[in-house]
Amino acid sequence: MAGCIRGGWHALLLAALNVSAHAQLGSLPRHSPYPGGVAIVKLSDADAPVLEVTYGGNRVLTVLLSEGLFGVVGIPLDATPGMQQLQINAAKDGVRVAYQTAFEIKTKTYATQHLRIDPRFLQLSPENQKRVERDQPLIATAKTHWSEARPASFVLDLPTPGRLSARFGLRRTLNGKESWPHGGLDVAVGTGTPLRAAAAARVIAVDDYFYSGKSVWLDHGQGFITLYIHMSRIDVKDGDTVERGSVIGLSGASGQVTGPHLHWAVVLNGVYVDPELFLKTP
Ligand SMILES: [Zn+2]
Repeated sequence: MAGCIRGGWHALLLAALNVSAHAQLGSLPRHSPYPGGVAIVKLSDADAPVLEVTYGGNRVLTVLLSEGLFGVVGIPLDATPGMQQLQINAAKDGVRVAYQTAFEIKTKTYATQHLRIDPRFLQLSPENQKRVERDQPLIATAKTHWSEARPASFVLDLPTPGRLSARFGLRRTLNGKESWPHGGLDVAVGTGTPLRAAAAARVIAVDDYFYSGKSVWLDHGQGFITLYIHMSRIDVKDGDTVERGSVIGLSGASGQVTGPHLHWAVVLNGVYVDPELFLKTP
């Protein structure tokens, strides 16, 4: 249900789309409107001059199909199920208009894992605390990076074959206390395994963070970003262009981990979403 802030725009009544009915939408990630998922939301007819779409203050990726303009909306893992609003800025006859369109977040229950860790390992030294404080804004900047070019594809390749050892969204308790849910997909690979770009991209950040270790951020366009962490070696640098499948470095156990593996994350509009929604064969 669309709510026009400025009136007279009822021609653009907006509706969430039943994706399965539209073959041409097959290239989009699966419509999965739950926390950690992706909502495909119809924004307007193909010729409507939408300028900008935001959700939770972050720009939303849009894709133009013959059926119209669609938002590909990442839903945060901590989102509350129920109706949510997209903010839309558009131009109508030269006048800027702002309105909202709603979509519904459904419920999804993720598995829970209970972890016990020696509390001493959870206390940061002043030096490490400084590193964490240095990392946080850099991570936030990379995660919310925006470039105008639309992605060439929404299909991602797993960066390395391997057993999926921890799925996205896994809820975790640490010594009995609720901890952060798992914001990526873990692939169990030993140190030194080549990691490949999940799709064509530009490298937007390369760093060595306290928790994540050696990390690479790839921008696929319009806030569609992939992240590769705990690497042992990085073979790309900021600003590089990479093709789908090109090796960006080697897996490892850098950062705070119990053993070598790849933690792979996918971002839309500044939030982590389930990487498996983008794989050809889940
Ligand atoms: Zn992980």
